[in-house]
Amino acid sequence: MKTINKFKKLLIKEMKACPNFQKDKGSDEQHQPKPARQYLKALSSKIQTSQSYMEVLSHVYEFEKHLYAEINFFSQSIKIRGEEVLSTVDTHHGMQRRIELLRNLNFIMCIHVPKILEELSKQISLNQTVTIDSPKEKITINPLFQLESKEDQAVFFNPLYKKTSPIATLLFLQERLLISPINYELEGIASSEAPSYQIKSSYEKEADFLVYVKEAIILSFLKALLTESGQHLICKLAKTFSLYSHSLLIRAMLTPEPYSLTTIPKSNDKSSYTTSSLDSDQSLQGSLYERTKPIKQPKEKGSSSILCFPVWSKDLSFSDFHLIYGAYFHDADFSFCLSNIIMGSLSFNQEDTAFYTPMHIEFIHELIHVLHNSRGTNRKELDRQLTEEERNLWSNTEEYWTIEGGHLCENRFNRELLPPVERLGHRGAPLTDFFKIKPASRKIEQLHEEYQASELK
Ligand SMILES: [Zn+2]
Repeated sequence: MKTINKFKKLLIKEMKACPNFQKDKGSDEQHQPKPARQYLKALSSKIQTSQSYMEVLSHVYEFEKHLYAEINFFSQSIKIRGEEVLSTVDTHHGMQRRIELLRNLNFIMCIHVPKILEELSKQISLNQTVTIDSPKEKITINPLFQLESKEDQAVFFNPLYKKTSPIATLLFLQERLLISPINYELEGIASSEAPSYQIKSSYEKEADFLVYVKEAIILSFLKALLTESGQHLICKLAKTFSLYSHSLLIRAMLTPEPYSLTTIPKSNDKSSYTTSSLDSDQSLQGSLYERTKPIKQPKEKGSSSILCFPVWSKDLSFSDFHLIYGAYFHDADFSFCLSNIIMGSLSFNQEDTAFYTPMHIEFIHELIHVLHNSRGTNRKELDRQLTEEERNLWSNTEEYWTIEGGHLCENRFNRELLPPVERLGHRGAPLTDFFKIKPASRKIEQLHEEYQASELK
């Protein structure tokens, strides 16, 4: 009980720093979307009386959606090639502070993810196990998961729970999230010119980074669970993962500059791609949707996926490739990189106007690719069906289906936000392009320390 109270107080403290909560004299009152003062007051009392982590999370998420709407209201005039840039809007409306607030709330919640999962597993009696004494060995069976055999430690999902509990589904998926540190590149490390102490500390830093990444991913899953579409997506994913024994691997990916999340199929045998039976002469007839609809039924099974989190260093040139597993990882500020992802990004609508895309929507976008890969319906191989204009807009067919074309697409989630937003095209921009701010003005480690030292109980 103590921990949840500490959690609640820390969140409320952070939320009170919202520019609209204090009276913002400099802002143009009539252009404010909605006075947030009373709203925030009501919300903090709701949080105070919440009994469970999930209840607190749903209230914080309501508050976050309010901030998205404010950011979108103020960024209406931002066009991708427009003259006004976000930083000038920010001087009037404290946009930077709102975004920083969103990031801090996410950080605080990330720190508590293990506690939240523990509570959820108690809710569905996941901790209850049945022990069977067989003549050869003692077998412990969890009512929700069962081990198939001793040799193959694959965990199979009890179908009874599949439909009934999205929370059980989430816990199943958590089992399927593998952390993949850099040891598969040991050969590269051996040949690196970097001193060995740098290699060791790079390795440790990356492992820590991936642990935080995992918490951020589960937090995004939890937020997705708060909506019907999210439950739908997570249940579908659990079903296909269970059917084909697929999993989601997480990896840090070196990039020359701030970059967004990227998903790639794990196997390179093309099993995740669907192919078209249309010949190239027919390819440019009809609507984009018609041209790129699934033609063939998916193959027997697709592939697991790897979700790559970008890591870059401001001080090192990307061309120092031979130093990558030594100096590059050693000098990269992982907290800064994670911070950049957690802050979210900007996407653009039909009018070329910017709107805010929070991290969990970016993550849902990647999950849709993961689902396609697992089912063998990734449409990247259908790219020749695109006109040049369409290619400029959507990058490729798979992005079109992930953002707009598919039944479970990113825009379905964007439409559930208030006010609804609609993304057109694959374009996007990291917030660091617009703000001259340090994304890591308060690092996750610092927040963690503050929490540990906090007298709030
Ligand atoms: Zn994508």
